[in-house]
Amino acid sequence: MSNLPVIGFLGLGHMGLPMAINLHRAGYKLKGFDVVPAAVQAATEAGIETVDSGADAAKGVDIVLTMFPSGQHVLDAYRSYLLDTAAPNTLFLECSTIDVAQAREAAELAVAAGHRSADAPVSGGVVGAEAGTLTFMLGAEAADLAEITAVLEHMGKRIVHCGGHGSGQAAKICNNMLLGISMIGAAEAFVLGERLGLEHQALYDVISTASGQCWSVTTNCPVPGPVPASPANRDYQPGFAAALMAKDLGLASSSLEHTDTDAQMGALAAALYRKFSDEGNAGTDFSGIINAVREGTL
Ligand code: NAD
Repeated sequence: MSNLPVIGFLGLGHMGLPMAINLHRAGYKLKGFDVVPAAVQAATEAGIETVDSGADAAKGVDIVLTMFPSGQHVLDAYRSYLLDTAAPNTLFLECSTIDVAQAREAAELAVAAGHRSADAPVSGGVVGAEAGTLTFMLGAEAADLAEITAVLEHMGKRIVHCGGHGSGQAAKICNNMLLGISMIGAAEAFVLGERLGLEHQALYDVISTASGQCWSVTTNCPVPGPVPASPANRDYQPGFAAALMAKDLGLASSSLEHTDTDAQMGALAAALYRKFSDEGNAGTDFSGIINAVREGTL
């Protein structure tokens, strides 16, 4: 018999399935569930034990892990069946990317129901989920850290404890707000460079070693050539889809409003990515926004 905790794993989508597979390979007993039958079937085919309902995934487990599209999905599942079904003191590990206020509400609900809670959103995308190299941003009580880290380290290579409940989500959206702003800045710099007669490689060689240096240039460069692995070299296939950047910037906007923060660049990046995504580019890598900058259609 294994001493590892039993994990109810809900949400077996693009991210959840590879994360669940890594836990399964590490020897954890999972009770997997998704509302989409094809997702359940894919998990079964990967050797993961699956159950017939969300409530069943919370029965007889030590940890309930959720990887859902939005905060509303999380709150609905918590309220409708997860919190009531789980045994007292279950650890609710919420890994979706959701609004900070909703993350804090979910944690309050879990604690009020006699459970423990942590938010642990991720960065690293599907590639990182498959490779087990995600970064987890953790909002959790210090007393639960060792137990949480022992599980997360099978799915990620870096775990940053950001503070109490909601702090993981807060760190995630602050990072992604900066990423959205910096990618638009990188796109504008390369388009201006083109019009001033600069070769992409020449401008890259300067920026990548000068004060404009940033991840949007050195890793996810929006023009093909200088960084062979960047999505620009494969017609902007994601990578990190524009729809997900628009979602995260929407969450950042909501937090800007809640906190009465005057962040004009973040608000503008949110509006520009929403437009870019809605105008037929939802599945394009977010660096593809350079084409809209070049065409003047943003
Ligand atoms: P996805 O839509 O592929 O997967 C979400 C899954 O949750 C779906 O299969 C859906 O059917 C399932 N689901 C919804 N409600 C459910 C319920 N009540 N019970 C069981 N299953 C339910 O999304 P994804 O790309 O896997 O992303 C999941 C989360 O991770 C999102 O919050 C996203 O913002 C975040 N994220 C995604 C990426 C990425 O690159 N895809 C990167 C970082 C973070």
